[in-house]
Parts: sequence; C-alpha cells; structure tokens
Amino acid sequence: MAGRGGPARTNGAAASNKICQFKLVLLGESAVGKSSLVLRFVKGQFHEYQESTIGEFHCKSWDTFTRAKNWVKELQRQASPNIVIALAGNKADLSNKRAVDFQEAQAYAYDNSLLFMETSAKTAMNVNEIFMAIAKKLPKNEPAGGASGRASGRAGVDLQEAAPQAGGSKCCGGGN
Ligand code: GDP
Ligand code: MG
Repeated sequence: MAGRGGPARTNGAAASNKICQFKLVLLGESAVGKSSLVLRFVKGQFHEYQESTIGEFHCKSWDTFTRAKNWVKELQRQASPNIVIALAGNKADLSNKRAVDFQEAQAYAYDNSLLFMETSAKTAMNVNEIFMAIAKKLPKNEPAGGASGRASGRAGVDLQEAAPQAGGSKCCGGGN
C-alpha cells in the first residue's frame, strides 16, 4: 500500500505558525486496510468487519507487494517530484499469515526512497507513526496556492496531538 502526499497550499500566515494543507491518498488493493488505517488514525477505532469501500467483502492478507510496487512506479512516473511516498505493510498482527519478508520490503523501500513501516490498524501498531513520518517529510516552504488543491475550509487533523493508541507501537527497524 502506498500513501501519497502532494502539496496543496499554505494559508499565507507568518512562516512561524503557518498552517499547511496537503493531500494524502491511500493506494492499494481492495481489503488491504486503507479505510481501517484512516479510521484508526483519525478516530482511534477499528472495525473487524469493516465494510468495503467498493462494496464487496474480501479478506486478504498482505500478499499484494507486486501490485504495491506497480503503484509506486506509476507515482514516481507521474506525480510531482515533491511527492512523499510511504509503504505500509498493513495487517502486521497476522504474523502467521505473513506473505512478504520484512527485510525484502525494507530493502525495496530503501532502494526507492520510500518511508516504510509495518502497521496494524487492528492493534494500532505504527499507525500514528507512519502518518507522522509522512507529515515530517512534507515540504514546509510550499508557496501559497501550491500545485494542487485549494483551501477547503474543512477541519484537518492536528498532528501535534497524539491520536489514541490501542496497542503498542513498533519502529520499522524490527520485523515480526
Ligand atoms: P480497504 O479496502 O483497503 O479500505 O480495506 P478495509 O479497511 O475495508 O479492510 C478490509 C478488511 O481487513 C476488514 O475486515 C478489516 O477489518 C480488516 N483489516 C484492516 N486492517 C487490518 C489489520 O491491520 N489487521 C487485521 N487483522 N485486519 C485488518
Ligand atoms: Mg476502503
């Protein structure tokens, strides 16, 4: 799964406390847990039987590494050079169903300059951490009215506040 951040705009306030808005897109196969990661990050919740965004119910473990690589290739080909791409190996709690070796994914991420963490929307492992890591890598000096998006007036997520965590967190340095 790949997360994507693209510049939206700054509000033109003083540089010291300006508010920046960015677009974050979660890409990945159906049922890998995109909606669940957002739900965990924004509301601190997890639904075991999360209704599929598309409609059909699937249950799939993290066996979509090849497809994730294709998403990354496509983003690198088409997106703005400022893009921040993060690879989330979600459902890390299902260790008995592991389909992708941690070191293999980590090496791929390193070679392609991607952030990488194994996450679990279920236990909350690394969910805040991956969103925060993306936020920290975003450019802070985008000119007002940047490349994509406009001020929406919608409330955002305050990244200074830690979202609730149901489980422990684990850094990307250790596999499971
Ligand atoms: P999406 O299609 O990528 O948005 O996937 P969903 O968020 O709808 O999740 C698909 C299914 O996987 C749902 O039944 C979720 O409860 C389950 N799921 C999502 N994330 C995790 C996770 O980290 N661990 C486990 N065990 N199940 C998860
Ligand atoms: Mg969904």
